[in-house]
Amino acid sequence: MSDNENRPLGLYIHIPFCNRKCDYCDFVSYSMDSKAQQLYLEALFAEIDMQKSKFVDRVFDSIFIGGGTPSIVYEGFIASLARKIYSSFHFLEKTEFTIEVNPSSFTHEKFLEYVQAGVNRISVGVQCLDEKLLREQGRIQSMENIEETFKMLNNSLFTNVSSDVMIGLPGQTLDSVMSTINYLLKQNIKHISTYTLQIERHTMLYSKLRKGKITPMKDKTMETIFNQVNKALVKEGFVRYEISNYAKPGFECRHNKKYWDDEVSYLGLGVAAHSYIDGYRYYNTKRLDTYIDDLNEGKSPVYKREYVSDEERRTERIMLSLRTSKGLDLEKFKADFNEDLLRTHADIIKKMTDKKMVEVKDNFLKIKDEYFAVSNSIIVELL
Ligand code: SF4
Repeated sequence: MSDNENRPLGLYIHIPFCNRKCDYCDFVSYSMDSKAQQLYLEALFAEIDMQKSKFVDRVFDSIFIGGGTPSIVYEGFIASLARKIYSSFHFLEKTEFTIEVNPSSFTHEKFLEYVQAGVNRISVGVQCLDEKLLREQGRIQSMENIEETFKMLNNSLFTNVSSDVMIGLPGQTLDSVMSTINYLLKQNIKHISTYTLQIERHTMLYSKLRKGKITPMKDKTMETIFNQVNKALVKEGFVRYEISNYAKPGFECRHNKKYWDDEVSYLGLGVAAHSYIDGYRYYNTKRLDTYIDDLNEGKSPVYKREYVSDEERRTERIMLSLRTSKGLDLEKFKADFNEDLLRTHADIIKKMTDKKMVEVKDNFLKIKDEYFAVSNSIIVELL
């Protein structure tokens, strides 16, 4: 077994259910009743049974239940799923166990169920406090739901809470984003993810854009907002450990960090989940009916398996490492890809270090914090 195979894996489980589809949503999600949820749980169990023998010698140290809206499933679903995974895979004692919740479906009973099931990290999908903006995107969630969620979490002993903030919604302003950030800073939150709205094809938002019904946020406004958010969060002791992710020291998301490291494997279960195992990527079907039917017939839901070539890994290493505050390990890059980036890209790195856009320190190449907002253009030059 290689060193990489010795490193603990992450386990992702996709819950593809939502109340209704948000206009900007590109995830696989369906509105389904508890009977359909039960069929899905049975299919997940079948997939776990199919996979477990391949991981008898491996250990996991993170579980992430994401969606969709995992908090929407009936009471008892998550507890039952947790029992199944604990009895099928090996976990380190201090495994990070995250679940994503939506304030509109997160109840006290579910909170207790999750904690008893071993959940030790909760990610609250707040996105934006402006109910009007959210309603325009078809997202069902009220300020009352959000306040109840944080009251419940703040009054408990639960400490590891994260929240997502969406930036770039049509009509969103700097004030609107900052009021969301300031509200979250008053809660007992240890981690904040700030996401840029992407207008993906095949979404309702894309068709609104094509019909001229919405105006996307200007790049300059976006940049100003990101810089203000960065300033406010850093002032409150958050560390920007990745371009979109801030954490109080010791509260970085272990599971997400695996996605940025091409040497760590993760197993994805559920419809539309994908895995990265020892250099291969596996893609599960995106169709819920196919996923359930395949597993009922004892067939694998994986529809594509591909080997990640050295060239692709090289590109991903540059792109993903430079999005992190740690940066790109130049020694390791040289050892793994037989390329001295400081030599092959000497001119461009010199130009960028002179302009203080990047820095080379202790053999790591890093984008300076002030230039994270334009990181894409910097990364492209280094590929
Ligand atoms: S709640 Fe999340 S996953 Fe569900 S439709 Fe909205 S954006 Fe998509």
